[in-house]
Amino acid sequence: MRIKFIIPLVSFIIILILILSASLFYVESGNQNYRIFQKRFTRTKSISGDFYNYNVETDASAIRAIISGLKLNKELSSLFATGNRNAILEYTAPLYKELNCDYNITHFYLTGLDRVNILRVHAPDRYGDTINRITTIKAQQSKKISHGVELGVLGTLTLRVVTPWYSNEGKLIGYLELGMEVDHIIDRLQKLLGYDIDLFIQKKYLKKNQWKEGMRVLKRRIDWEQYDLLVATKQLANPIFQSFIKKKDLNETSFDGSIQSYNIKDSTYWLLSVPIADVQGRNVANMLMLADTTFEVNVVHRTIFTVSIIIFILAGMLLTLFSRQLNKVSQHIKHDENLLKQMATKDSLTNLYTRRIFNDQLNAEISYSKRYSTTTSLILLDIDHFKKVNDTYGHPAGDMVLRELSNRITSSCRETDLACRFGGEEFVILAKNTSTKGAADQAERIRLSVETRPFDIGEGKTITITISGGIASYPDHADLDTDLITITDKALYTAKKEGRNCVRIAL
Ligand code: GH3
Ligand code: MG
Ligand code: MG
Repeated sequence: MRIKFIIPLVSFIIILILILSASLFYVESGNQNYRIFQKRFTRTKSISGDFYNYNVETDASAIRAIISGLKLNKELSSLFATGNRNAILEYTAPLYKELNCDYNITHFYLTGLDRVNILRVHAPDRYGDTINRITTIKAQQSKKISHGVELGVLGTLTLRVVTPWYSNEGKLIGYLELGMEVDHIIDRLQKLLGYDIDLFIQKKYLKKNQWKEGMRVLKRRIDWEQYDLLVATKQLANPIFQSFIKKKDLNETSFDGSIQSYNIKDSTYWLLSVPIADVQGRNVANMLMLADTTFEVNVVHRTIFTVSIIIFILAGMLLTLFSRQLNKVSQHIKHDENLLKQMATKDSLTNLYTRRIFNDQLNAEISYSKRYSTTTSLILLDIDHFKKVNDTYGHPAGDMVLRELSNRITSSCRETDLACRFGGEEFVILAKNTSTKGAADQAERIRLSVETRPFDIGEGKTITITISGGIASYPDHADLDTDLITITDKALYTAKKEGRNCVRIAL
């Protein structure tokens, strides 16, 4: 019975644990984790893009204001008209220093007609070349101030503001240009988000040799071959980038806006790529952002671990509790079963065997007698005028008589005999391997003991009763068990008819 209950229960608990584990695993595993972080980082990505564009435009507005002031500086335009580079440099150098300090201005160009550069205040040694950048061409063509982010040959992204420059007489004398590297926007974003962010330039927009030469001039040592498609802009790109963004990891899909996760040792990182466009709308660079999600992932792991442990403990407790209860119930049932068994085999009043047992045993005994040619006898005993006893002394007194008679019958039996309560006040003894005469003698002894010894009926009273008996045997009187009972009953009837208090053998 325990197995019947325990197996389904254990199976149920196991299934429950499996379902729970599967769902936890589903939440924990790639898919859900991925979705949660994907959603979060998609938003971060778009915010970062907006942040970058907003900062570029804000910086551009500030530079436009500065450059508008510069182009109205009559002293500067008069000096420029002289064409004396040294004098112009002397005048503009302190100005540039101030702009550099206060506004992050990193480029200051004074360019003449036909976009021929007269002076780079930030790099006075290089001049005389024609400036072919989009912002300058736009300013030339539109005769208006223009701005935009452009990729320099050295691989730097610079926000440039160019304005046509007019003399005091209103004649175009050239172009003024101020530039600002965009790195500080990346730094700002890094501080804001707390992620590691680096700017990478797409190699296809750079010329390798020119770039390498530029790096040499800038005294930076950045490896062109490090990645297939990108090149870092900082000498010390974040060491984590170095350690896990291997060549193979960076391919075209790295720039299509997808967000990838990486596991390094015990840490989990998410890599976000935000495309950076130049003034022509080309995706010339990528802001790669590295978010360390180890803590969040660990929280999920720890939660799953704790929940699993709790489930196991609860399941164990449930099982123990259930098993204990089941133990109790099965003990009760066993007890009840024994009781029932006893009730089915023994009569509750007399403690003699029931008629059912008698029938079974008689059947078995006759089969045995048939096989081994023995004699089986039946002694059927009935109290004479027992009704009167009940009527005179009451039913409890009758019960006492029945109990006492049963004891006397039992004590007169051999071990092999089976004494049973056949009916109300009728008793039968199945005397195994006993002849008719032997059975008759036994019946006579019982009859005599009943007649001669009064019965106690309580309250110090005793009564004397008598019994009648019928005897029949296999094979002397019948071949079948049912016939044998009928014939024995007939013998008893004869005894009753012939005056009671006697024993008669079947004819
Ligand atoms: P007879 O000599 O012809 O056998 O007469 P009798 O009165 O003994 O027989 P009868 O069959 O008329 O009545 C049997 C009585 O036995 C009636 C019934 O109340 C009583 N009896 C049967 N079972 C029990 C019992 O368990 N306890 C008591 N107290 N009486 C019982
Ligand atoms: Mg009777
Ligand atoms: Mg009777």
